[in-house]
Amino acid sequence: MTQRPVRARPPSTFTKVRRVADRGVYDRAAIDAVLDAATYATVAHVIGQRPVATPTLHWRIGDRVYWHGSVASRMLKSHQAPSDVCLTAMIFDGWVLARSAFNHTVNYRSVLCFGRPEPVDDIAEKTRVLKVFMDHWFPGRWERLRPVNKRELGATAIYSIPLTEASAKIRDGGVGDPAKDLHWPVWAGVVPVTERLGRPVADAGVSADLKPPAMPRLRRRGPLRNV
Ligand SMILES: Cc1cc2nc3c(=O)[nH]c(=O)nc-3n(C[C@H](O)[C@H](O)[C@H](O)COP(=O)(O)OP(=O)(O)OC[C@H]3O[C@@H](n4cnc5c(N)ncnc54)[C@H](O)[C@@H]3O)c2cc1C
Repeated sequence: MTQRPVRARPPSTFTKVRRVADRGVYDRAAIDAVLDAATYATVAHVIGQRPVATPTLHWRIGDRVYWHGSVASRMLKSHQAPSDVCLTAMIFDGWVLARSAFNHTVNYRSVLCFGRPEPVDDIAEKTRVLKVFMDHWFPGRWERLRPVNKRELGATAIYSIPLTEASAKIRDGGVGDPAKDLHWPVWAGVVPVTERLGRPVADAGVSADLKPPAMPRLRRRGPLRNV
């Protein structure tokens, strides 16, 4: 997504990664890259006294990350109360198999963002941000679709938080076995994991001259590097 990137802020006491601190990244470009590449996120919020972590689609526009759903959604209704949420997005890049159970780990890119959700109520703004969302995954598709109508926009709630308090954590590497374990006779290494597109299946009635959309973002995805 194309908007003026904001420079990294130093982490707050809350967003500073403490556990394996050298995996913490606070650079906005890195945070944006994870948010833009991750297919979905989890919005953690509190309903009554209980924590709820709801998986949902998300998208970023400039300095904010958005999510949407039915106005009847319990999650989206809960944002009407002034209460912070934590949005987590993650990409699983690979299994890291060591020579001992203890040293097994995974390669990943993850982001946690904290903030107070703000609604998008204006109809024109709703239309704009939904188009950005569609175009992020399916460039050019919005313009080809039957136009969205007022009833549909009214039934859709959209919220966002600013990317002012966010952290990324990234592991990208090989096996970290100590020298004393290297002789142990078991396979060790990295098994990359990628999310791939399957073969599109056309709906009934779609004429043969209509082609499925290109999804360049998913095609481009994968581990930061193959180990
Ligand atoms: C796919 C995957 C699998 C994982 N598996 C495990 C596991 O099995 N066991 C385990 O202990 N941990 C696992 N982690 C790491 C886990 O997400 C936490 O980073 C870790 O448990 C430390 O948590 P903490 O509460 O001590 O974090 P702290 O370091 O105390 O967190 C402080 C702040 O650092 C930031 N932060 C912490 N973790 C992340 C993160 N993952 N991404 C972005 N920002 C972060 C947040 O802003 C947080 O408020 C996994 C992560 C991923 C993405």
